[in-house]
Amino acid sequence: MALFCPLDNNDIARHRVCLRNRPMDLLCETSFECPYCGEGISITVDTSQGGYSTIEDCTVCCRPIQLVFECEPGEVIAVEASAA
Ligand SMILES: [Zn+2]
Repeated sequence: MALFCPLDNNDIARHRVCLRNRPMDLLCETSFECPYCGEGISITVDTSQGGYSTIEDCTVCCRPIQLVFECEPGEVIAVEASAA
């Protein structure tokens, strides 16, 4: 009896590739204003998670912005940008 099955390992590898390549329509472009310099910044949001927060550096003034996204799959409902 083999405890190690190479076929099972291949299935796991394929599954991981599948998770990395999310469908494009779940990636939505949205924009927000930098809380420091007021610059409008656009960002691509992965809506498959249903909502999440992240920190992005402003492309203009390079200061860190705390972003909170509220999402439905395929749609960005709200973006909240605040000083991190
Ligand atoms: Zn800025």
